[in-house]
Amino acid sequence: MYRLSCIHCGAEYAPGEIIYTCPKCGHLLTVEYDLNTISVTRDEWDRRPLSVWRYREILPVTIKPVSLQEGGTPLYHLERIGEELGLPHLYAKHEGMNPTGSFKDRGMTVGVSMALQLGMKSVACASTGNTSASLSAYAAKGGIPAVVLLPAGKVALGKVAQALMHGAKVIAIRDNFDRALELVRELCIKHGIYLLNSVNPYRLEGQKTIGFEAVDQLGDVPDRFVLPVGNAGNISAVYKGLRELESLDFIDRLPMMTGIQAAGSQPVVQAVEGHLPEVVPQANPETVATAIRIGAPVNAEKALTAIRETGGTAAAVTDEEILSMQRDLAQKEGIGVEPASAASVAGIKKLVEEGAIDRDERIVCVVTGHLLKDPETVIKQCQPPIEIEATEQALLSVLHL
Ligand SMILES: *Cc1c(COP(=O)(O)O)cnc(C)c1O
Ligand SMILES: [Zn+2]
Repeated sequence: MYRLSCIHCGAEYAPGEIIYTCPKCGHLLTVEYDLNTISVTRDEWDRRPLSVWRYREILPVTIKPVSLQEGGTPLYHLERIGEELGLPHLYAKHEGMNPTGSFKDRGMTVGVSMALQLGMKSVACASTGNTSASLSAYAAKGGIPAVVLLPAGKVALGKVAQALMHGAKVIAIRDNFDRALELVRELCIKHGIYLLNSVNPYRLEGQKTIGFEAVDQLGDVPDRFVLPVGNAGNISAVYKGLRELESLDFIDRLPMMTGIQAAGSQPVVQAVEGHLPEVVPQANPETVATAIRIGAPVNAEKALTAIRETGGTAAAVTDEEILSMQRDLAQKEGIGVEPASAASVAGIKKLVEEGAIDRDERIVCVVTGHLLKDPETVIKQCQPPIEIEATEQALLSVLHL
């Protein structure tokens, strides 16, 4: 059993109500379970495949889920990068290995399932790219029409390709993500379309399983959990989930939740560093990491709680630091990620170099999306292929043999 509850005023709502924020005070909602009535054991979970649905007892879906077999992503030990940084226990959870290449699939398997469970007839989102790719695929699987709003000219090529190919109605607006979200929220509320941005509390339920899986894979709670922060849904989701595990007595402490933003788009970092009571939106966010190019993070209130309650922190990294870590992950670890994803590891590099974190910590960095999402940024950073005549001599000559 569960209900929706307001994180600010505590008002409670039935799970079937189609609301995205508290009708009384306007703050965010969260899904609250009666955890003392949940009787699942760790052993039962361990017998199931590693996936979002391993944890179905603390997910809101009661129908057969709309699933593309999301989750179960690898947790890699970053041996070379860790050695260079003096961090022997540095790990990356590669969320780019999900069905559409980002962690958004964890949210969408639950979100689109809930759309059907609640009897909704269509779904929509605003997106910097990955949410639209994921929603489009899961809507196709669920057999429900989808509308996606993108900031024109600011979405990585692979993501637009996915949204188009999976059959969503794709609309590019001549403004940024924050405006696209305002528009789509209005549209959904006025026209009975189900909104699947991360303001939707059910979507975050799916995303919390990143934390569950990391704990299961590591066999323990990491000391620190590091995520790139855009709308701040994912960091909030992982924190919420781990608190539930704590309430179930499956874990006995929480990791320090650590959020990384791009220097040109860092409202959460400013709130944390400035000890502000809330996040002040930033008007014109700019970064090569388009997935976190967000000035008004909708889940800011939840994210500040996650960071502050766990003794975590937030830090900003420059676009150069992001791209340099994208290359390091690719070339030193064999892990291909899109720029936003590299921000988490780039942030740890920065924090350790500043002496802000302990070198013995066990650190899980979430790398959020796949390299192929944004081929254009990759091509710009690399030398083009060496083109030669099709002769052995020419081949040997370019290889200096
Ligand atoms: C959505 C996304 C993010 C940001 O996640 P939030 O929940 O919005 O903070 C980071 N990286 C990638 C690749 C994403 O798709
Ligand atoms: Zn409220």
